[in-house]
Amino acid sequence: MIRRLLALAGPGRRWLFAALALDLLGAALLIVGNHFNRGFFEAVTAGDAQAFWVYVGLAIASSAATAPLSYLRVRGIGQFAEGTLARLRSAIASRSAALPFSALEQRHTGDLVSVLNADLEKLKTLLASHLLELIGQSVRALAAFAYIVSVNWVLALAATILTPLIFIAISVLSAPIGKRSEELQTDIGRVVGVAQDGLSGIMVVKAFNLNGPLGARFDEANASALRKGLGIARLRALIEGVTLPMAITPFILAIGLGGYFVIEGTITFGALFAFINLLNFVVNPLGAIPNILAGIQESAGAARRVFDLLDQPAERATGIVSTPAREAGPALAIERLTFAFPEADLPVVKDVSFTVPRGQTVALVGPSGSGKSTLLKLILGHYPTPPGSIHLLGHDLNDWQLSAARDQLALVAQDTYLFPVSLGENIRLGRPEATPAEVERAARLANIHDFIAGLPDGYATLAGERGARLSGGQRQRIALARAILKDAPILLLDEPTSALDTESESLVQQALETYSRGRTTLVIAHRLSTIKNADHVVVLEDGSVVEQGTHDALLVRGGLYLELYRRQFNGASGEASHE
Ligand code: ADP
Ligand code: MG
Repeated sequence: MIRRLLALAGPGRRWLFAALALDLLGAALLIVGNHFNRGFFEAVTAGDAQAFWVYVGLAIASSAATAPLSYLRVRGIGQFAEGTLARLRSAIASRSAALPFSALEQRHTGDLVSVLNADLEKLKTLLASHLLELIGQSVRALAAFAYIVSVNWVLALAATILTPLIFIAISVLSAPIGKRSEELQTDIGRVVGVAQDGLSGIMVVKAFNLNGPLGARFDEANASALRKGLGIARLRALIEGVTLPMAITPFILAIGLGGYFVIEGTITFGALFAFINLLNFVVNPLGAIPNILAGIQESAGAARRVFDLLDQPAERATGIVSTPAREAGPALAIERLTFAFPEADLPVVKDVSFTVPRGQTVALVGPSGSGKSTLLKLILGHYPTPPGSIHLLGHDLNDWQLSAARDQLALVAQDTYLFPVSLGENIRLGRPEATPAEVERAARLANIHDFIAGLPDGYATLAGERGARLSGGQRQRIALARAILKDAPILLLDEPTSALDTESESLVQQALETYSRGRTTLVIAHRLSTIKNADHVVVLEDGSVVEQGTHDALLVRGGLYLELYRRQFNGASGEASHE
């Protein structure tokens, strides 16, 4: 894990090595400084004024030297940690974006967000403190131990003989903390999740007066988090209570036995002073290291989740890039396409064949759940399809570079997503390099220009989160303007007017009619007015094509299409294929 993190750190690694070198230097300075203190006290007890002043000078110099050292060390660690995190963030973001739609669909977005958020936060602790703490503390402890042995090995042994016991006690007592904190994290995740769900669905919560039931769920999760948190606090208190007396023992031994040695004249008082001071650096890490190790365990879990994500296979990025020659067959040809969702057994598209000739409009109709939206997803390359089953502009979809294939398609989806930027920017996403005049032209074609121009801020008006400040029809027309601006060879429309009231429907309808005349369009439609204008109608039922032909021919045939048509005119909600 550490090796992979270091590889990801890239050039930032040299900051880590610099900080490590400074740690070694710091350990050396610690010993030297204490050695000077020893000399100082030896001079004082011997009444040697000359040596006294020399050691005063040396002690000041060695303390002064620690200042720039600490500064450089902390800075180096900061550079290393922040640089590595920034690289991880961009690796995670670009990998998430490169994942196939099918993989993203199976993950909760909250999951990806928590990798970016909570897991990276844990890695930050690892990179910025735990890693160097562990190394720094160990190096200082070893150096300090070597020095106290050099002062008097009997005393050193006597003072530290119990330390393995202390270490074991702390390790054993703090072992459950890691697991408990993980459980606490899960509980806090649940608390946050309940709050988030409530806030996302606040309209429903208020309309159905769900504050009571949701509040109860929240209280229950919160109470459980409180229990775990208190459990951890009790464990920590126990550790403190048990280990503090144990941690004091080495000092009592050092002072007692060391004082005797001083009286006996085996060691000087100055040496005992340095000994006790450095004993701190041997004993104190014993309490800190188990905590650091537990922290590293936690970070390892976070690193695993990050690497898991980075190791997911990305979407295919190779293949045909250029637009093939005009004469290369129909715009879209679907041939004997059968498809089942990865985790499902039964196919939702069964042996479907139809073509969309260049410049023509083909309408897909059929009851809800008959597989219409799925067909569009397959054309967009969101799921792998059998070779030869989808031809886009004369080439097998599997031979296309996916992004290039999508450049040939402009989509207006069933539920329109607007980004929380301005309306103008939302349209411009269709073609980021478009001029304001081109954006406006697309908006006019989509029948949305007058509405936008009438707003106080015009095209600079913010769309709000998910376009919350617009009506369904307005959002739909913005999405249409976006697709028009993209000006791709093939227009894909998924029930463009299904969610609209009659007035906005007719606005979108008009816009579509003007725009799609003479353009290649595949439209999923449930309004018969849209279908009547199509050159060809494909009727789907339960994943299979049951009829296809022109509107008039299908009416004569008297099959499912006629039934759908009748239902529409009987006023049976007009939602023959509405989700
Ligand atoms: P529609 O014709 O109404 O657009 P869809 O293509 O959305 O129908 O759905 C066709 C069938 O596939 C439905 O039975 C639906 O439940 C199922 N389905 C849609 N999306 C998924 C998915 N991501 N995973 C599994 N099944 C799905
Ligand atoms: Mg659909």
